[in-house]
Amino acid sequence: MLTNGPRGTNDILPQEVGKWHILEGKIRAWCERYRFGEIRTPIFEHTELFLRGVGETTDIVEKEMYTFTDRGDRSITLRPEGTASTVRAFLQHKLAGQAPLQKMYYMGPMFRYDRPQAGRYRQFHQFGVEMLGSSEAIADAETIVIALDILKELGLNDLEVHINSIGCPQCRQVHKEKLMEFLGDRLSELCPDCVSRFERNPLRILDCKNKKCQAIVSDAPAVMTCLCDECRTHFEKLQSYLQKLNVKYEVDTNLVRGLDYYTKTVFEIMYSGLGAQSTVCGGGRYDGLVEECGGPSTPAVGFAMGLERVLLTLEKMDIQLAVPQGIDLFIASMGEEAQVEAFSLLHQCRAHGLKAEMDYRKRSLKAQMKQANKLGAEKVVILGEEELNKGQAIIRLMETGEQLEVELSQLTEKLKG
Ligand code: ATP
Ligand code: MG
Repeated sequence: MLTNGPRGTNDILPQEVGKWHILEGKIRAWCERYRFGEIRTPIFEHTELFLRGVGETTDIVEKEMYTFTDRGDRSITLRPEGTASTVRAFLQHKLAGQAPLQKMYYMGPMFRYDRPQAGRYRQFHQFGVEMLGSSEAIADAETIVIALDILKELGLNDLEVHINSIGCPQCRQVHKEKLMEFLGDRLSELCPDCVSRFERNPLRILDCKNKKCQAIVSDAPAVMTCLCDECRTHFEKLQSYLQKLNVKYEVDTNLVRGLDYYTKTVFEIMYSGLGAQSTVCGGGRYDGLVEECGGPSTPAVGFAMGLERVLLTLEKMDIQLAVPQGIDLFIASMGEEAQVEAFSLLHQCRAHGLKAEMDYRKRSLKAQMKQANKLGAEKVVILGEEELNKGQAIIRLMETGEQLEVELSQLTEKLKG
């Protein structure tokens, strides 16, 4: 119990964190280029926000939230996703008043009571972008393209991009009637979840993971066949922007997202090698959400990318991120006096920006050299009593084995070079 973390959680150990730093660094760099500003919202929110913002008929709200009552008797939920909080902050701080178009990104842990398996955890990390204030298809294209640029720089250029349009509420009403007519005779063959979805939100039946339900809906009328002129043009424009940038994509008329607030564009970036957890990035337009959260009608589009799934995809494709290895300097010392000197020298070297390490356990010189080797030190400074008495130290270049004696007073200068 005490020696195991909760199910579905992971520790990222120091030896593994390097690839996270690279991934996060590339994400931040691309967001700067695209001028998405980072927003950091709290890890927990009022439960109400997610009921409204994610939607009561979604898997997230129905069965995945970590909800508790705090000591002040408020219902609090650990954030299962980032869009609702971003919209809440957008309204709370009246960001629309500062600039009519807001481009924001977030990155951090999310919490869902999911069934843990490869690529599916109870605490996982998402990076997401949100563009609030534009209804134009070019905004949808911009979000898809930044996701692809990031993935491409990581070496993931062959992921599949699936796009679809689920229309506006008007198109969806037309579709809903057709869908209900189609499913009406087949209700008894659907899973119990879908039977309840039939009344509450039949579109979600298209998103069911149950194989039998998937087989039934494969012939169901697609929303695409019910799009109004405006939604159809919007979808065509999105495709023309993607084509202009030579983005390869597939129109997948079965693609619907589980969240209630999506309108028009939906998209997923997938890697089939991940099996059931094949979606690395999912997003779309959510023109209804800001109003749903109590704000003025505001068009918006965004996505969320699962960072564990990005790293898993890299692993499956055998792509290694160039995590920096090794250190600049190891300071080996013999004897109490030399150790004090080494400690001070180490401090100066670090102040000069060197990655430097020493021994903290009074081990033999041989053991210290071994450690320096293991750490991949480029140089080792050897400080023995004898050298110290002469006011000198030895610098050893580990690659060649070459050694030189240096005056202590010149040591930091020499090491910097
Ligand atoms: P899924 O159908 O796989 O459950 P979802 O529709 O619940 O996905 P979103 O809410 O759209 O997923 O989240 C966006 C992305 O976040 C997913 O595409 C995935 O990469 C990642 N993600 C979602 N849930 C988890 C989880 N439990 N563990 C790890 N990553 C996750
Ligand atoms: Mg899910």
